[in-house]
Amino acid sequence: MTMPLTIEAALSAGRTALDGAGVETATLDARLLLEAAMDAGTARIVAEPDQALDTRQEERYRSFLERRRNREPISLILGRRAFWKDEFVVTADTLTPRPDSETLIELAVEHFRRGAPCRILDLGTGTGCLLLSALREFPDAAGLGVDLSPGACGVALRNARTLGLDSRTRIICGDWGTAIGGIFDLILCNPPYIADRERETLSPEVREFEPRQALFAGVQGLDAYRELVPELAANLAPGGALIVEIGHGQGPGVSRILMESGFCVAARARDLANRERCLLATVAHT
Ligand code: GLN
Repeated sequence: MTMPLTIEAALSAGRTALDGAGVETATLDARLLLEAAMDAGTARIVAEPDQALDTRQEERYRSFLERRRNREPISLILGRRAFWKDEFVVTADTLTPRPDSETLIELAVEHFRRGAPCRILDLGTGTGCLLLSALREFPDAAGLGVDLSPGACGVALRNARTLGLDSRTRIICGDWGTAIGGIFDLILCNPPYIADRERETLSPEVREFEPRQALFAGVQGLDAYRELVPELAANLAPGGALIVEIGHGQGPGVSRILMESGFCVAARARDLANRERCLLATVAHT
């Protein structure tokens, strides 16, 4: 008969297994996977190292570890990721929300301090994390999320319902042009912006598991901005703002596209690594 596996032994075995697979955050990931396998919080995992896992918990933990050893992201294994003030369902159809993208919400909150936006558009909504976080910050607003992927649209809708924001949320499956004709006070967009040639520099977690169409955008990574920005000035209400996420070093290129399309760049924000991460653009209405 084999000895039941204790929490402490499970953590240590998990750490070793993940370390061996080149996972940089092996200790943290082993704990997160064990918590999920046991449906337990951190407090219990830390406070009861000698408690044994039952067979079902052990099986789940082993299968989670195996997936993580194959470099599947934690967000996909757990099926969720925290962003801004909420937790979002994440699937293989959606980009995992990044802390860096929270700078878009911060910038929106700052910009609209004196008069909240009523109509919000989020292009390439994915999990809906940007749109739904904005709707949470602006309780009188209604929002439209657009995504090309039917799978992502389903996830965004599910997140809207779970967060109790569905009465203010509409999700449409379509391309960048879908919302043309609508007028919005705030337009958010975190488009794909990775240059095709950078594919090999990405971690296996991103390269192998995240949706390709949410990541890559041509030779310089600017294709999505080139496609969507020129149409957008006409969608912005007077006093409105377009906030786009950008990749490292793309500030000048995206600013140029914005200016050529009738926008002026009114603010920029940096992420936690102090890199320019998003631009806020407005239109001077005459
Ligand atoms: N809007 C979503 C996010 O910021 C998805 C973006 C994308 O798929 N490129 O996470």
